[in-house]
Amino acid sequence: MLIIGPPGSGKGTQAARISERLGVVAISTGDIFRDNVKRETPLGVEAKTFMDAGDFVPDSVTNRMVRDRLAADDVQEGFLLDGYPRTASQVAELDDILRENELALDVVLQLTADDEELVRRLLGRAELDGRSDDNEQVIRHRLGLYHDQTAPVVSRYDERGIVTRVDGIGTIDEVTDRVMTALKVAR
Ligand code: AMP
Repeated sequence: MLIIGPPGSGKGTQAARISERLGVVAISTGDIFRDNVKRETPLGVEAKTFMDAGDFVPDSVTNRMVRDRLAADDVQEGFLLDGYPRTASQVAELDDILRENELALDVVLQLTADDEELVRRLLGRAELDGRSDDNEQVIRHRLGLYHDQTAPVVSRYDERGIVTRVDGIGTIDEVTDRVMTALKVAR
């Protein structure tokens, strides 16, 4: 399954909980990039400038990383992809990767929240975590990219009838309850 939502919608937090409850591996492209940035790997060095500006890391880098990750044995029993695909061309790439690995998507979970709530949350996270892409200008840019590029991704999956929407406003537990209920219905 995929989890899609604007920055600050809590997709990473919910992905970790879903992964634990359903026993499927959670793969976050943002986490993989941040880990590489921290370890100063060539991938991290390449990604950092884009991430700090709130831009998407180029497809040439991102697609290769996802392709390698989805070829691993631990995804064969199910996986939860968080933060990918974010563009229409990544949707096409993911279709290819899944076909090659004889995998298929069951559910696309979309977390929703309005922009002003997201900005408030992300500015709060900036104080707690010190993420270099959590300042107001970059936050608004990331939200803009989500609306322009990632909303059409959801439309593609909507056409396939596999999208389930969950309201991301509420406590973490409330949202998890909604997610688990929605997934039971969707399965
Ligand atoms: P996230 O943790 O999902 O908010 O991702 C943090 C940052 O990582 C994004 O702002 C992008 O710079 C980069 N990133 C994560 N996933 C992707 C993706 N699918 N395509 C391009 N860039 C990505």
